[in-house]
Amino acid sequence: MAVLRATPETEQKMREFYRQINSINSVSSMVAFLPTIFAIYLGVPFHYFFIVVAAQILVLAAISYYKYRVERKARKIEVTPGRYVLENTMTYAVFSITLPILLFLFILFYSLSSLQRVITINLLFVLSLLILLSNLPASRLKRISKPLDDPYLISKADELSEKLGTGKLGLFVMNLGRFRIANAGQVGARKYSVFITDYLLDNLSPEENVAVIAHEFAHAKQKHVLKTASIAWAITVICANLMVYPVDVGTYPVMALALPAAGFIILMLSLVLIIPSIQRKFEAQADLIAASVVNGMDLVNALQKISRLNFTPSEISRHWSLDHPPTRERVKKIISYTKANGQKN
Ligand SMILES: [Zn+2]
Repeated sequence: MAVLRATPETEQKMREFYRQINSINSVSSMVAFLPTIFAIYLGVPFHYFFIVVAAQILVLAAISYYKYRVERKARKIEVTPGRYVLENTMTYAVFSITLPILLFLFILFYSLSSLQRVITINLLFVLSLLILLSNLPASRLKRISKPLDDPYLISKADELSEKLGTGKLGLFVMNLGRFRIANAGQVGARKYSVFITDYLLDNLSPEENVAVIAHEFAHAKQKHVLKTASIAWAITVICANLMVYPVDVGTYPVMALALPAAGFIILMLSLVLIIPSIQRKFEAQADLIAASVVNGMDLVNALQKISRLNFTPSEISRHWSLDHPPTRERVKKIISYTKANGQKN
C-alpha cells in the first residue's frame, strides 16, 4: 500500500517546530495566569489589576509576534502579523481578563450562605447546559464561513449521510486560508454542522476530502460531541457540588476537608486524563466508520497530508492528555481495518 509518509528530515523539522510551539504556548499560559495569582497572594488592591492585566496583554502580544515569526519560518503562514498577533494574544488574554473578574465573583460567592452557594452553582450549571444544547458555537463559526459549494463534494456528502443515516447536515467552509490551518470538525450537540477549513479543502484530493467528510459525519452519527459534552458536564456538576457541599467544620472536620479535595482531584483527573482518552476513543471509532463507507486509503492519505500541512509530527511522545491519537497510530488502525475488509487501495 502506497502510504504518503513525510521524509525523516521533514519529520525532524516538524518535531523541532512542534517542540518550539509547545514551549511558546506554555510560556504564554504562564504569563496569562501567574501574575494574577501572585497579585492575589501578595494582596494587591483590586484596582491595580487593571495595570497587571494591561502588562500581561503587552507581554502576550510580544510573545505572539515571536510565535508568528516561528510559524512563518517553519510553515510559511501568509496571515498578516497584525491579525496573527491579535488573534493569538486574545486566545491567552481572555484568561488574564477573566481571572480577576472570576476572583471577584469568587469572593462574592463565598460571602453567601452555604445553601445559597449550592443553589447559585447549580443555577449556573443549568445555564451552561442551555448554552451547550443551543446552536451558539456553530453560529459563531458560521460568521467566518460560507456553505460548501463544490457540486462533487455536495453529492458525495449526500450519499454519505444517506449511507450513515445522519440526516441532512450543514457543511461549511471556514475562511482561514492565510493561517494555513488544515482542519475539520463537527460542531453542535443537537443540530450538526461540519466545518472544513479552506486550506484543507484546497490541498486534499476530492476523494480525500470525501474521506474527511465521512469521518466528521461519523462523529455526528455517533453523537460524539453530545456524549463528550454530557460526560464533561456531569463530572463538573458532581465535583463542583462536592466542593461546595455544606459540611459543618466543627462537627465533621475531616469531611469538611475531604469532600472539596476529592471533588477537585476528580475534576482535574477528568480534565487531563479521562475526557481526552474518551475523545481519542471516539476519534478511532469515527476513523473506522469512515473507512467502512469510503476507501480507507483515502482517509489514510488525508490524515497524513493534514499532519504535514499543519506541520504536526506523526508521532507525539506525550500523548495521554491529547484529544487526538497520533497520526501514525490512526493510520495503522485504518490500514488493518481496510485490509481485513478486503478493500482495494
Ligand atoms: Zn475527528
